[in-house]
Amino acid sequence: MNSSFWDPAQALQDAFVLGDDMGVNPCISPSTTFAYYDAEDMTRVFSGQKPLKQKSGYLYTRHTNPTVCRLGSLIAAMEDTEACAPVASGMAAITCALNQLVEKGDHVISSPCIYGGTYAYQKNLFEKHFGVTLDFADFTDLDEVNKKLVVSKTRLVYFETIANPVLAVASIPDIAQICKENGTVLVVDNTFSPLIVTPAQHGADIVVYSTTKFLSGSSIHVGGAICGSENFIDSLLNVRDGWVMLAGPTMDPFAAFDIAKDLESLPIRVKAHSTRAAIYANRLKDLGLEVHYPGLASHPHHVVLSNIGNPDYGFGGMIALDLGTEAKAKSFANRLHALKFGILAVSLGFSQTLFSCSGSSTSSEIPEDKQKAMGLSPGLLRLSIGYTGNMEIMWQRLEQALKEEDLIS
Ligand SMILES: *Cc1c(COP(=O)(O)O)cnc(C)c1O
Repeated sequence: MNSSFWDPAQALQDAFVLGDDMGVNPCISPSTTFAYYDAEDMTRVFSGQKPLKQKSGYLYTRHTNPTVCRLGSLIAAMEDTEACAPVASGMAAITCALNQLVEKGDHVISSPCIYGGTYAYQKNLFEKHFGVTLDFADFTDLDEVNKKLVVSKTRLVYFETIANPVLAVASIPDIAQICKENGTVLVVDNTFSPLIVTPAQHGADIVVYSTTKFLSGSSIHVGGAICGSENFIDSLLNVRDGWVMLAGPTMDPFAAFDIAKDLESLPIRVKAHSTRAAIYANRLKDLGLEVHYPGLASHPHHVVLSNIGNPDYGFGGMIALDLGTEAKAKSFANRLHALKFGILAVSLGFSQTLFSCSGSSTSSEIPEDKQKAMGLSPGLLRLSIGYTGNMEIMWQRLEQALKEEDLIS
């Protein structure tokens, strides 16, 4: 079944399985604990070995669960990594992955242009409680990354593929090269760009997700995932010192079942988000507005994303519109909501369009001067473009809101 090219949708397709009852959907396994025929086998499994007298080696659902593991195999397949551990939230994925990697005295380089919660964790908890030193770097500037790297001390490097919320894109292959030469682990948050970019194929060692967003797309489950080598995922689940096992952010099997179901439509959803976002971004730009969208030829990292992007998935569903002031952005957001262009709400990747003023909401953890430095204007409105309704009627509403707010004539 070798093919001449790789497509994450095909990898996902080939990882889907039937239920034990031959149902077209796999069975849900909601049990918290699992039976053994032989106490000796239980001891073997606790020490990381396979059981001898039975096929299944599940112990307890905080460690592993068949339904959660099945979701893990699907995400690992589409990310082209050996393994994946689904967890209870994106923040659990990020914190457990980072905590597992560092030791006291390690140096870490992160991007200031990241999800507000990740920034707050790294700045306010990680450094303080783990004895690491943290530096921020602009990952779109390779010289800066090279300068900040401390030979043999920099343990890990962290950034987002398409960075929240200004949509900057760093060259993963170039940074992976810098990391490899130094034995540094590269961790990438791919929440904004599932299927669009496969970071592991460009040298990322660990890929983390908030499955709450595009991956699920239904906005009914908070969840996360950590993808990487089998060794690394095993270490997270180790009963003695694994952060997922011991901090305990377990994904519920019912949520795992639903998210796995959502993955069936991920390829068509991502294409639909990208198609509509690209059309709107181009039109907004033609109206003379300041719009950040990596699919625009004028975006400073358009070529970088084109080079690492998988064919046919576009440039994502996220648009950032800079309206200058916080007051203008808020007033415009109110108008968009009232006209039913979308919903004034945080989060992203939902079927309907969601929007929020980043500086005063999801990035409010980042101090004002840092926001300014990363290009986050207080007038920035972040939109996750949905695919519901009629595209032209929705566009008319967007245009009407712009007119009513005197943002265009
Ligand atoms: C939402 C988000 C997170 C956090 O995920 P939760 O599921 O809310 O914990 C992390 N990174 C990015 C890029 C996000 O958008």
